[in-house]
Amino acid sequence: MGQYGQGVFATKPYVSSANYIDKMSDYCGDCKYYKTKDTGEGACPFNALYWDFLDRNEEQLRSNHRMGLMYSHVDNKQESGEMDEIRERVAELREMAAAGEL
Ligand code: SF4
Repeated sequence: MGQYGQGVFATKPYVSSANYIDKMSDYCGDCKYYKTKDTGEGACPFNALYWDFLDRNEEQLRSNHRMGLMYSHVDNKQESGEMDEIRERVAELREMAAAGEL
């Protein structure tokens, strides 16, 4: 993500949900958060933050051919209303982080 943000060659932003973190590490195994949940009690913070990041940066990222699949998921979440729940979860996460409770 940093490389993408600085204009250095990168084909897509380096940002991920728990799905990728779980594939690339063993962190999720002992974690108190649920890696498969986007919202609700105990949902992995990375999931809501990931979808919120894509939603907020849609204008810049949607045209990237490597992001097509992810934006089809964003479309589904927008149409179903799930993105509203994700935004609420992100607001909650930001408050928790500010209070040192995350
Ligand atoms: S916070 Fe999410 S991505 Fe990180 S270890 Fe826990 S479940 Fe996995």
